Amino acid sequence: MKVYGSFYDILGISDDSDLIAIKEAYKRKLLAYHPDKKPLQNHMEDANIVNRIQEAYAVLSNQKTRAEYNEGLIEESKREGVVGNGEGLDIYDLDDFRMVQEEPPTDDYSNSYLRIYWEKDCPRCSTEQGFMLTETALSEQGTKVTETGEIGRYEVLAQCNSCSLWLKIIYYDLDEVDGTFLHR
Ligand SMILES: [Zn+2]
Repeated sequence: MKVYGSFYDILGISDDSDLIAIKEAYKRKLLAYHPDKKPLQNHMEDANIVNRIQEAYAVLSNQKTRAEYNEGLIEESKREGVVGNGEGLDIYDLDDFRMVQEEPPTDDYSNSYLRIYWEKDCPRCSTEQGFMLTETALSEQGTKVTETGEIGRYEVLAQCNSCSLWLKIIYYDLDEVDGTFLHR
């Protein structure tokens, strides 16, 4: 059996658990890997798991080391692109991007050709157009945000096409925003 994941995963708790929940999970996990409960050949790898459980508990049960550990997790997720709901990512407004409207091909006389995308140089590696968002990407990958109470607010997560940086980009659906609120 391999041990995956964060100290929270090891203890089987969510990252907002309080100290009581952490202690309970710690006792429960230790008990589950108690040598008396397992056949002899498993003792070696169980010892490793128990070490990880104790390490996890030592860090998470102390407010200071836990805060430092959480910081590290966020930094790691930014590097790895393991973004989940994008918590901890730097946030940009789509207004921080350049809007580009592609010229229609000269032989296309229909008025249907209107290709728009938004581009931004990567704030980390400076690659030009490191971030490019098409209207299609926004409509297919954007998720509606209701927690902030803002009408028509959407978020999308995007990764630089040259480095591993992920950003959270917010934008507003003007149809939903409806005459009462002006787009910034
Ligand atoms: Zn980059």
